[in-house]
Amino acid sequence: MKIIDGRAIAKTIRNETGESAEKLRSEGVTPTLAVVVPTEDEATAWYVRQIARTADKVGMDCRLVRLHDPGRSEVVETLQDLSADSAVHGIICQTPLPEGVTLSDVGAYIAQHKDIDGANPENLGRLAAGLTAWAPSTAAAALEILRRSDVQLDGRRVAVIGRSTVVGKPLALLLLNESATVTVCHSKTRELSRVCQEADILIAAAGRAQMVKNDFLKPGATVIDVGTNPTSEGGLVGDVDHDSVAAVAGALTPVPGGVGPVTTALLLQHAVMAAKSQS
Ligand code: NAP
Repeated sequence: MKIIDGRAIAKTIRNETGESAEKLRSEGVTPTLAVVVPTEDEATAWYVRQIARTADKVGMDCRLVRLHDPGRSEVVETLQDLSADSAVHGIICQTPLPEGVTLSDVGAYIAQHKDIDGANPENLGRLAAGLTAWAPSTAAAALEILRRSDVQLDGRRVAVIGRSTVVGKPLALLLLNESATVTVCHSKTRELSRVCQEADILIAAAGRAQMVKNDFLKPGATVIDVGTNPTSEGGLVGDVDHDSVAAVAGALTPVPGGVGPVTTALLLQHAVMAAKSQS
């Protein structure tokens, strides 16, 4: 079984992004990403540090906008102000949000062309309509890994476990746009393992530690493990039981070191692409 090295793919993307950012800076444009942080959550703080560090590496500005215990209106106003700020090219809003507030709700206040993490439902609609759109970077990362690993999609069967707005649903649309035959599974799917066995490519994004075992796989299938589940020892495991699938899968992304680093790299690549299209 081949282990797909997400860190190596992320490095290639960062190098490409660094070159594009340098070109833009030489033209007088500093690509700028605004990250709205409406929470003190530790996992979010870790992810935001990763973004800021990567932004620094690729030569772009990362503007952190920290909101302390905000209400919905403060989050909305912040996103509207950043949308109107011509020095900001990309905007992302971190979660968790204030109680009762969803990302789809406040995401609608991020200008569509600056919404590089696909939080504005308009981008999901554009994706469904087959128009150019920003997809959430985790969904885009799963597709990017398949592309950069030369996995053929056209006409192949893909099963996606998960139908969330940030991963499963946009990923299914991205794959459909690549002419894959896509089955979207969720918690009510019957005979899940049997449905997954039909797939040439299995993408697990359920948030259930190690739920995918060898009986979910067609021999030789490519498996993309999007899940990130904390362990009691302070580590991280995916949705795929790597030991169980090792003898059956053709290729597999590890956790950590698979989808995660590609997601961060792609987010910044999207920000630089947005800066380019706005300059
Ligand atoms: P989510 O909003 O909780 O959605 C989970 C989806 O999985 C739902 O559609 C749910 O079905 C389905 N599901 C849950 N248990 C299932 C089961 N036993 N069988 C079949 N389907 C099941 O989660 P998410 O935000 O999409 O994230 C999914 C995973 O990806 C999480 O582990 C998250 O940490 C990870 N993630 C990773 C990255 C990264 O950069 N690597 C980024 C984002 C998310 P229902 O709709 O029926 O409830």
